[in-house]
Amino acid sequence: MNYNHSLNFLEVRTSRMVFLLVTALLWTACGSVPLTGRRQVRMLPEGLLSEMAAANYQGFMDQHQVVPSSDPRAQMVQRSGEKISNAVVQYLRESGEARRVQDFDWQFNLVDSEQVNAWAMPGGKIAIYTGILDLTQDENGLAVVMAHEIAHVIARHGNERMSQQLLLTMGAISLDVALRERPQETRDIFMLAFGVGGTLGSLAYSRQHEYEADALGMIFMAMAGYNPNHTITFWERMMAYSSGPDIPQFLSTHPSNQARVNAAREFLPTAMNYYNP
Ligand SMILES: [Zn+2]
Repeated sequence: MNYNHSLNFLEVRTSRMVFLLVTALLWTACGSVPLTGRRQVRMLPEGLLSEMAAANYQGFMDQHQVVPSSDPRAQMVQRSGEKISNAVVQYLRESGEARRVQDFDWQFNLVDSEQVNAWAMPGGKIAIYTGILDLTQDENGLAVVMAHEIAHVIARHGNERMSQQLLLTMGAISLDVALRERPQETRDIFMLAFGVGGTLGSLAYSRQHEYEADALGMIFMAMAGYNPNHTITFWERMMAYSSGPDIPQFLSTHPSNQARVNAAREFLPTAMNYYNP
């Protein structure tokens, strides 16, 4: 009786210690998302991810047709990317979080492709496809997509997603060890995590990441002088488009539905607080 009692006590103590240890470990691998304050697990060094991103981004652009900077559409992509990223960087600087973007080398390329698509990689590497311009219609609509993609980068969703995927497939392993011992698998996870290319079955961002990127994107576009209410009309257009026969790449990872439009509408008054026309 006594023995059992003390054993239980010991077990409880041990599991409590394990729990505390795991919590402490996760806490150190944790960060938080600016503005939303959500805690997230990020196990990968952001600098190494940015290096991988820069190489992959360049490789992708070398293999695809990039719209030249003399084209007004490419200029629009560049302009909205610069306006939004500048506004975000200024905000982060003022709130003492400039370190988050210190190694960034922003790039905004327009890829000549019918695909309705857009994506972003760590370190500020953004790709917009000409196919999505029919749906964004003008610079305000483009700003919705641009701000959403910039929000994924600022919130480090890619790091979080790749950490989750590495944990699932390889257990707790550092990125450099993974790269050294299982290079191809690690590169595949990277490509999946960042949704590059149309043929890869991209891991969809979680619903949580999508909603968070929508909300942050609305704030970021507002800071840059774009009215965030364009988010609602853009997702409504996407919703109408997605009822057609072909589901475009962007919509396979960004399902547009009434819930998403409603969430954007609900968040609009908060985003308007940051609107700087
Ligand atoms: Zn997204």
